This record gives sequence, structure tokens and C-alpha cells, in this order.
Amino acid sequence: MDIQRETLDTDILIVGAGPAGLALAYKLAGLIGDDSGMDMPEVMLMDKGSHAGAHSLSGAVMDPRGIAELIPDYKERGAPLEAAVSGDAMYLLKPTGALKFPYLPPSFGNHGNYVVSLNKFVGWMAEQVEAVGIDVYAGLAGYDLLVEDGRVTGVQTVDMGLDKEGNPRSNFEPGSLVKAKVTVLCEGVHGSLTRHAFEKIPELTANSLPQAYLTGVKEVWEVPQGRIEAGQVIHTVGYPQPSREYGGGWVYGMDKNPVSVGYAVGLNSPDPTNDPHMKFQLYKAHPLIKKILDGGKMLHYGAKTIPDNGYYSMPKLYHDGLLLCGDSAGMLNPQKLKGIHLAIKSGIMAAETIMEALKKDDFSANTLGAYQGKFENSWAKAELYKSRNFHAGFHGGMWAGIFHAGVQMVTGGRGLFDRRPKKPDHEYMLTRERYRARFGAEPHKATIKFDNQFSYDKLTDVYKSGTAHEEEQPPHLQITDYDICNNRCTEEYGNPCQHFCPAQVYEMVEDSDRPGRTKLQLTPSNCVHCKTCDIADPYQVIRWVTPQGGEGPNYENL
Ligand code: SF4
Repeated sequence: MDIQRETLDTDILIVGAGPAGLALAYKLAGLIGDDSGMDMPEVMLMDKGSHAGAHSLSGAVMDPRGIAELIPDYKERGAPLEAAVSGDAMYLLKPTGALKFPYLPPSFGNHGNYVVSLNKFVGWMAEQVEAVGIDVYAGLAGYDLLVEDGRVTGVQTVDMGLDKEGNPRSNFEPGSLVKAKVTVLCEGVHGSLTRHAFEKIPELTANSLPQAYLTGVKEVWEVPQGRIEAGQVIHTVGYPQPSREYGGGWVYGMDKNPVSVGYAVGLNSPDPTNDPHMKFQLYKAHPLIKKILDGGKMLHYGAKTIPDNGYYSMPKLYHDGLLLCGDSAGMLNPQKLKGIHLAIKSGIMAAETIMEALKKDDFSANTLGAYQGKFENSWAKAELYKSRNFHAGFHGGMWAGIFHAGVQMVTGGRGLFDRRPKKPDHEYMLTRERYRARFGAEPHKATIKFDNQFSYDKLTDVYKSGTAHEEEQPPHLQITDYDICNNRCTEEYGNPCQHFCPAQVYEMVEDSDRPGRTKLQLTPSNCVHCKTCDIADPYQVIRWVTPQGGEGPNYENL
């Protein structure tokens, strides 16, 4: 289909109104305001969610270092902090028991941090940005990264009003070409345009290790008063993850009576039945967690992947016309499982770099490369470098990881090795045959009968995420080879997509054309945009692309 597209020109295009993109916009407005010789450039800050924060999800315990640098009087301005951390505990969970760690090293502690709801916090940051004159274009989704003669020149936005087969309907509106002097990708974890950037500009990841991802599944509950103090932070390792696999859980006391409860599961699992949602249901049924939730009510649900390999999986941060910030650049401290403060810091440094580029009117790699230099000399780099081998230390399982973490603490982060090589996560998944050969048993996931009191099926949880997509549009989960799904994957892996998706988008249903066989059925309207399928599919035949803008989850208090 030959489509005429409108071209919109802007100076600075920021993709993603999360902590990084909003920090960039806020800082840039401040720098320009302080410089009497400069006019405000045109800034376009776009986000695929229905509003800023609609797709933002995190645990979250926030280190305030980033926001304090960006907006020193953030508390006076009413930043929505649920509670200052008032207590910090770590437990090792067994199926029915829990052992409290007697000592928590300061590097794992949360003293001085705040429990927050990221999507509320992002909403507040967006208000601060709009107050300095930069609007958030919510509901505007990027579809493709524009690269011309090796230079990033902007983004093509998503076509609106196509039918399921991709034909224009009466309300068809073609996506625009948004051209910018510099495009800053602040999309969050595993962004689709960031993926385009890595594919179109291989030098960005030429020296990086493949990323290691977790899928975090979370609910917010209202619990009876007195169950957990506001600001109380509980982290757990162990059950229901087998000790050979990476992951853990959390419970955080929020303001008044809500609690954040969640479980994060490594996607480098050998198990083709790895199911983060099911593991979360098992987690809530553990006596330690159950006694906190007992008598409470589940209010909200969400799921998201987490980029967890840290420093050695970060890409090069710049290219001609391009900067990468926050989770798009893998800026997450795996030891603390925190990235909000690093995302904000990256936005600040990107703004300072863009200010220099505006003055020189040069947005080539020569000038934008200063961003990498700022990062290398920042506290963000120091923090990420210190935790650089943390995730890799768990390659041999939980006990090896705990031992390595101890050695890393006394060796400045190095530990017994440095920069341990790794494969992409999906390559660690074993076929059923290889799983049997290695573990002497069929892959078999532990399950729980959903009681709608502590545990819920995926569809009930999706309902609590506020997710909505128009049904009449091309599926935003693109399957490049259904034959692999319906035949080879069924035989070799048992269709892991039906397990790892936390929103029941993938189901194997009876194939009426082939008695006794199944075929893949998609329900893209359930998708909570977590990106697990794009990462974990063993054949890499699933591609997550952006649906129409303004769709997906509508997270509240998450
Ligand atoms: Fe996550 Fe993919 Fe399922 Fe959507 S379809 S919820 S991105 S695993």
C-alpha cells in the first residue's frame, strides 16, 4: 500500500514520557531558561500510553538521588512518595517456612529510600514538565525509527484505523514522519524503537553482552490496618523459584493500607513451562505473604520485564542524531533492582548534552558523544560499575550467587570473575528432550487452584490492569512463522508462550483442520505490553510491535 505521510519537523524528539524522558524535558527547559541568549527549541515528547504513567510500572522503592538532583524541592512540590523506608528485611523462603537473614549489608539496604507508585510518580513528573512549558503528546506511538544515510532522523508514528488484515478503514489516519535534529529513546525496557536502533545500527551493541531480563508480576492490595507498616520493605529469595533459577519477591507497605506485592522471574530459565504469573500466585499463597494479605482485597495488576544484567549489557549511548536513556540503555542496578534514579540522571545528562548541541547547532556523534563522557564521569556509572557482575554471579544458581555477591562486596564489584560471557535469554531454554536429559524429569510447572481470594487467573488479573485495545486493528504480536508454532514448537518445547505470557494472549486450541492437533490462537487485546514474548520465545518468531496509540494497560497506583 502506497501511503502519503505528513512530515512534521521538530528540534528534539523524546520518545517515552517515563522518568528519563520527563527528566530530560524538565532539565532542558531549565537550562534554556537560565541562558538568556537562547530561545526554547521545539520539543516533542511522545508516549504510547493514554497518559503519562499509564504504562509505568515498578516495585517500587526509589533511591531519591536522581529526583533530588533534578528537582531539589521535590517534597515541597508534593511529589507522591508513599512512605519513607521504615524497615528493611530479607527472607529466604522454603515451600512452607521462611528464614530471616540476620544481617543485611548496607549495599542491599534501603535506608533513605522511598516506597513509591511509579505510575503516580511519573504523573506528577509530567505535571512539573507541563508547568515549564513542554507538553506530553500522550497516545502517540512510534512504529519505526527513521535512519537516513546512517543518521537517525526521527520516528514514523503508528497508522491508526487499519483493519485486522491491514486495510484502511473509513477512519484511517496514516502515521506521520516526525523528523528531529536529535531523537532520544526513553522507551523503557526492550522498547520497539530501541530494538530497531540496535538492528539498524549494529555498532550500538557491538561491545555489549546480551541483556538479561526478568519478568516482574505485581499486584496492589488493600489490606486490613496493622498488617504492614507504611515504608516497611520485605524482599525474598527462594520459593517458588527453584534454587537453580534467578528471581525473588517483594512486599512493600504503601501509604495507609495498600501494599505492593510482586515476584520477578529470570527469563534465562531452562524450563519451557516457566510461568511468572503462576509463580506469583504460588508466592502469595506462602504463609509469610498470605498472613499479610489475609482479609485484604486485590486492587490492581501489572507486569513488565526488567533489564537486569547491568553495566556490561549497556549499549553505546549515542549515534548521529540519537541518544539512549534509562531502561532503553539498560541503566538498572541489578544488585538493588533499581533504575528510576538512574533513568532520571540519564535524562539530566542527555539534556546537558543537547544544550551543548543546540549551541553548536551540531547533532552529530561528535557533539552527542559528550553524553557518553558525562555518563562515564557520573555517580550513575560508579554505581553501575560496582554492581556489574551481580546478576552474572547467579549463573550457577542462588547459592552460588549469594556467595559471589559476598565476594563482590569485598573486591569492589569484581568478585571471582569479570564480564562473564552470556547468551541471549531465550537460548537458555531447553527443549523437552534436553530438559529430560539434564534433569531426569519432564518439565512440569507447579500450579495452584485459583481461589479468587489470594490467587487469580490471568484474565482476572488482566481486568485489574485496565488494559484495552481496539480489536479491529492488525495484531501487534507479529508471528513470522505459524508453522513453527503449530508443529515444531509444540513437539520440541510444548509451546512455552502459553506459559510465559502473564496476560493469556497465547493459547493453543484444538485445530479443527487437524484432528488431535493444536494451533496457536492470539488474543492481542489482553496484552499488558510487558515484552516477555519478544524476549523469551525460543525461535524468535514473535515480534512485539506498537499497537495504536493510547492503548494497552492503564495502570493505577502500580
Ligand atoms: Fe507480555 Fe507478550 Fe503477553 Fe503482551 S503478549 S502481555 S508483551 S508476553
